[in-house]
Amino acid sequence: MESVLGIITVLGRTLAHEHLTIDLSSNKSDDSNLNDDAAMLEDLQQLKAAGVDTVVDVTNRGMGRNIERMQKLSTQSGLNVIASTGYYKSPYLPPEVERLSVDQLCAVMEKEIVEGIEGTKVKAALIGEIGTSDQMTDLERKVFEAAAMAQRKTNVPIYTHTTLGKQGLEQIRFLVEHHVNPAKVVIGHMDLNPDMEYYIRIAEYGCYLGFDTIGKTSYQPDELRAKNIASLMSQGFGNSILLSLDITRKSHLKRYGGYGHVYLFEKFIPMLYEQGLTSQDVDRLLIDNPSTWFLQ
Ligand SMILES: [Zn+2]
Repeated sequence: MESVLGIITVLGRTLAHEHLTIDLSSNKSDDSNLNDDAAMLEDLQQLKAAGVDTVVDVTNRGMGRNIERMQKLSTQSGLNVIASTGYYKSPYLPPEVERLSVDQLCAVMEKEIVEGIEGTKVKAALIGEIGTSDQMTDLERKVFEAAAMAQRKTNVPIYTHTTLGKQGLEQIRFLVEHHVNPAKVVIGHMDLNPDMEYYIRIAEYGCYLGFDTIGKTSYQPDELRAKNIASLMSQGFGNSILLSLDITRKSHLKRYGGYGHVYLFEKFIPMLYEQGLTSQDVDRLLIDNPSTWFLQ
């Protein structure tokens, strides 16, 4: 598949939902603009030292995606970085989502996947993160329809954003009804809605569950995330889980006093071991599952 520096054949140890650049500051504070690349690089170097090979960047059109900076960060850190196409959610959807038809939106995504992003040769290797609000808005539905169409044409994976883990069932149903192969889909931010029955109903479609806000303990304690992962694994859903941190704020980065991306290895994975997972189990979550999602 395509990384921002060219074709790679192996993902290796992978974080499935991150943002090397993002700018949501128009609706939030300046903290939500990841524009300090030196601070980001320090976090990425710590990930590399912890054994990470690849970071999937789910920043898309209208979210402050910056291919040139992503390339630099990839080169400097030695990490593979995978770029996305797509549109986020209301109110972050750029005006073109309203202006263009579903077919035209599909064509925009397809072009970024097949030809390249914003005049560069860098190709998007997935559609993400496409999101829903508390309820799916009309514009969000338009994006989901276009994304489904682009997915069918290109077979790239889709990564969704749910708001606090809600609407996950609606999302997977929508995509399956629109003939997307569920094995190519991750329903995101599931760890913000700790409900085992809900997890299983979604996973039974054959898609992945994103436990991708690890470290955001103001929403859910990480001990609960670890416990729920162990429980899903013991019920046979160990192949359905992907891990990440979804760091989107400068204040999350180490240099700003935050927990930093390396928190996943320093703090969270030990919690998984406490829940009885083995190192093979952890490899399944970080290596095997991302690889299957992308390459099958
Ligand atoms: Zn998100």
